[in-house]
Amino acid sequence: MLNKTRLLTPGPTPLPERVRLALARDMIHHRKGEFSAIMGRVQEKLRRLFGTEGPVLPLSCSGTGAMTAAVYSLFDPGDRVLVVEGGKFGERWRSIAASRGLEVTSLQVPWGEAVRPEDVAAALEADPALRGVLIQSCETSTGVLHPVREVAERMAGREALLVVDGISAVGISPCPMDDWKIDCLLTGSQKGLMLPPGLALLALSPRAWKRAEATRPGCFYFDLPRERDNVLKGQTLFTTPVNLIVGLDASLDILLENGLEAVYAKQWALTMLVRAGARAMGLAPFAGEHFAWGLTSVLLPEGVPGGEVLRVAHTDYGVCMAGGQDRLKGRIVRIGHMGWVDWADALAGLYALDRGLMATGGYSAARDYLETAMAAYRAALETGPGIVPPRAEVRS
Ligand SMILES: *Cc1c(COP(=O)(O)O)cnc(C)c1O
Repeated sequence: MLNKTRLLTPGPTPLPERVRLALARDMIHHRKGEFSAIMGRVQEKLRRLFGTEGPVLPLSCSGTGAMTAAVYSLFDPGDRVLVVEGGKFGERWRSIAASRGLEVTSLQVPWGEAVRPEDVAAALEADPALRGVLIQSCETSTGVLHPVREVAERMAGREALLVVDGISAVGISPCPMDDWKIDCLLTGSQKGLMLPPGLALLALSPRAWKRAEATRPGCFYFDLPRERDNVLKGQTLFTTPVNLIVGLDASLDILLENGLEAVYAKQWALTMLVRAGARAMGLAPFAGEHFAWGLTSVLLPEGVPGGEVLRVAHTDYGVCMAGGQDRLKGRIVRIGHMGWVDWADALAGLYALDRGLMATGGYSAARDYLETAMAAYRAALETGPGIVPPRAEVRS
């Protein structure tokens, strides 16, 4: 009872009060006019969020459901695709593609690094029959941001579709679909959108729609052309999670009311805060040059029990952060700062991390790390996104 619980995980993320109140509204019927009116509003706002002229489909599933819908709707069994695999979610693309019977070429990227666009270009050159490239915008397991825009540029003029898992990027860092020539962009509700889990959103480019229409749907539930026809009438193919749509209406207002640029600027500044704070604590960020804007992964000093650090931060300070997955288990801490998270939450995260390290490794940061973090935050707000300050000295 001493602490608030602060959810600093890369999904689910905290819910703003306006969203919670919207979620609590009475049930309405999903085939009646009141719901269609909401769908109409939501549709217009979603197109702004995705940066697309086309429809954005709500799907009742988690983010992985939308990844599945994309693969099963855009590719026929036997099609060849390239998967950019630099973490757990890249691996997930490969597993989903394999389950659809696709022939997968895996472009292995060392964990913690971003894919090099020229490597994607070379893979496409080597196999012109590739029908798609599956990539994450942010690879949440490592905290890396792949250079999607540059990858798209290298794919110009080719038949292969660019399919982007933007689950931890949409509403967090820029990913304007039409501008960047992304063929499929998808996300989930529980990350940048500040909603509970359970809803996914997916949009296709005109040429991806042509592909979807020519592909035999891989399953009954995810039939994107039929779903689109319903969405254009303010409906969904099946019973939709009505409250989540009502909540989405509210969360999109929050994201759009000051412009998306302001959201990105805040996300960028929080990223600078956490990275500078971690460095001042003597911890190296795991993702180098290409780092995500919604979470920061930091390497723990050798021998420090990562699980125990997280447990102390949670039980003693109320800060819930994520650990590493698979081969990174126990080795990194992932501090989520996407969605409804502000500077004070981020400072709480750093402090709880420091206390966790102290309790488990007898290690403690220099006293000014919180001030260093805040200075980086203020400077980043002033300069705006994209300008990386000179590397601070890493003390260890
Ligand atoms: C969270 C996440 C997923 C998984 O989404 P679920 O909603 O758990 O299915 C997939 N890809 C990325 C990049 C994610 O961050």
